Amino acid sequence: MSYDSSNIFAKILRGEIPCDKVYEDEFALAFNDISPQAPKHILVIPKGPYASYDDFIASADDAEIVGFQRAIAKVIGEADIIAGGYRLLSNTGVDAHQAVPHYHVHILAGANLGGKLVA
Ligand code: 5GP
Repeated sequence: MSYDSSNIFAKILRGEIPCDKVYEDEFALAFNDISPQAPKHILVIPKGPYASYDDFIASADDAEIVGFQRAIAKVIGEADIIAGGYRLLSNTGVDAHQAVPHYHVHILAGANLGGKLVA
């Protein structure tokens, strides 16, 4: 999947449209999902132009990969969700119904999230 810089998360990163920011550092931006699927639903995105998880791992340098993972952990810690539990989810491509072609990790928490997904 090639990167399309007109996607909505690229516009958020460029400050062209607003977001409800919860965390930012040099590698990542985290903000509340506009259509939450759980009481807590945060999206974490890398700052670089990566379309998907596989693109990110193939193209980002090690500092970006480690920095992004640590940013996710910081968001989880600051959201006070470790005790209750949480789910990390990243949709990629057509079968997973990825809607925004900028790599992102969903953090879902705050209620019983049910069992694993089935097709
Ligand atoms: P995907 O289906 O690509 O994994 O998830 C995309 C997510 O982005 C969805 O949960 C959707 O609600 C969220 N989203 C789409 N547009 C916006 C937006 O403009 N702002 C925010 N905060 N979230 C958005």
